[in-house]
Amino acid sequence: MLKQYNYVGPPEIRAQLNSVRMSRPVNTHQALLHQIELLTAEFNDGPYLTVTFIIDTEGHLHICDRHQEHVACALGRPVLSAGEITFALQHADYYIERITNQSTGYCPEPASWQAVDSALRRLEIHYPDFFEPAYDFRRCLHCAQINLIKDNYYICAVCETDLPAFWNCDQKE
Ligand SMILES: [Zn+2]
Repeated sequence: MLKQYNYVGPPEIRAQLNSVRMSRPVNTHQALLHQIELLTAEFNDGPYLTVTFIIDTEGHLHICDRHQEHVACALGRPVLSAGEITFALQHADYYIERITNQSTGYCPEPASWQAVDSALRRLEIHYPDFFEPAYDFRRCLHCAQINLIKDNYYICAVCETDLPAFWNCDQKE
């Protein structure tokens, strides 16, 4: 059983969910190409396209416009992983250049890669071996700020309190 992550970000972002369209699960290579084409239409054409993604609790990939919050892409529901995917266009086909677990709304751990790997394996697309970069998130026990850990620096960016050694982002203040 894979770990489920609930939304832990600011409530005001969650409140914007009413205006969000249903994002469809991407279960086939065909569906993936279709979704990418819908998203590229909104941007300038270039070799790279970065999108927001979530893996729903059924294990399916959803991709959304990069400017959309993860919680919106997930319709407020729990996820198995979340972050950003960068697609690259080569010889009229796409491959995945880069995947990160960067989502301060869900703070998925690097171990959530397992869910990403399972979802992507069915899509007949080339993708990397792991998150790059893989982020760790911690909630500050003093000021409740969610911190994205860089360079093993476990100090709160807001109040400079030491951050806990273990994942705690779902902890209430
Ligand atoms: Zn703090």
